[in-house]
Amino acid sequence: MKLLGLWLAVASLLLAFEYGLKPQKVDEGIYCYFGKPEVMNKENNGNMVNSCFVDMGKEWLVIDSGPTYLYAKEAYAQISRIKALPVKHVINTHVHDDHWLGNAYYKELGATILGSAAFEEISPDEATRMQNRISAQAYALTTPVLPNEYVVMQKKISLGDEAIVLKLAAGSAHTGGDLFVYLPSRKALFAGDLVFNDRIPSLRDGDISGWISILEDIKSMDLNVIVGGHGVRTDKQAPDFTLAYLKEMKKGIKEVLARGGDLSDAVRSLRMSAYESSKFYDEAHSANINAAFQMLEWE
Ligand SMILES: [Zn+2]
Repeated sequence: MKLLGLWLAVASLLLAFEYGLKPQKVDEGIYCYFGKPEVMNKENNGNMVNSCFVDMGKEWLVIDSGPTYLYAKEAYAQISRIKALPVKHVINTHVHDDHWLGNAYYKELGATILGSAAFEEISPDEATRMQNRISAQAYALTTPVLPNEYVVMQKKISLGDEAIVLKLAAGSAHTGGDLFVYLPSRKALFAGDLVFNDRIPSLRDGDISGWISILEDIKSMDLNVIVGGHGVRTDKQAPDFTLAYLKEMKKGIKEVLARGGDLSDAVRSLRMSAYESSKFYDEAHSANINAAFQMLEWE
């Protein structure tokens, strides 16, 4: 009995964690939680990523379920105060775990979880990045729940009488499987990590040319709202920061290669000082040059 009491006390302590999430209205019927421009740590507990809800009339459509079970639970509780609707569909834009570990909560609600086949490569037995870096209280009840429906190339679903287009970027861009969500009647697009606008993007799992090409496609679309995976800018210009950064880097590396330079020349000559004051410059910029150089060397 004593042991049970102790266990309950520990369990309630674990479950007491709260993020303090507040939904921000992006457009009519579109709300997002915007994460901090930081790396995941024991202070933000993974609240460094965006997660969005769209009012489809009879259900909330969720785009990216966030970093933990408790995050997803809190996000849903807060959005339910705006409108009490069930969640039947959750879309995972890509495999980086800050974007989908909230799936565990939505699975309990019985939602269909859609994502690219790149998720097949994730081993559910391996410890996640999030698990290693945030507090155990915040990670409580989180298990890696993968999509139960895969999207190949493109998929159209209708929720109520509204069409939703899920489109996979061709080849690699930010990762090897980047899904974006297009709601034509709202001229809205959820780009996942194809769009970062308040920090230097991360290229390590992707391909610079593929990324530029898909962003140019997105820029050519008639859109009013573009929400990225990180950053609070949600207008038509939301992709510009990432696109300009990648284009400047690609051009610079091509020049280094044309004059027979190597990787260390590229790192030295491509400081790209306009971005020096951006968040994640120290952590990501050299690594991005490194990744891009290796791709472009063979192009
Ligand atoms: Zn990512």
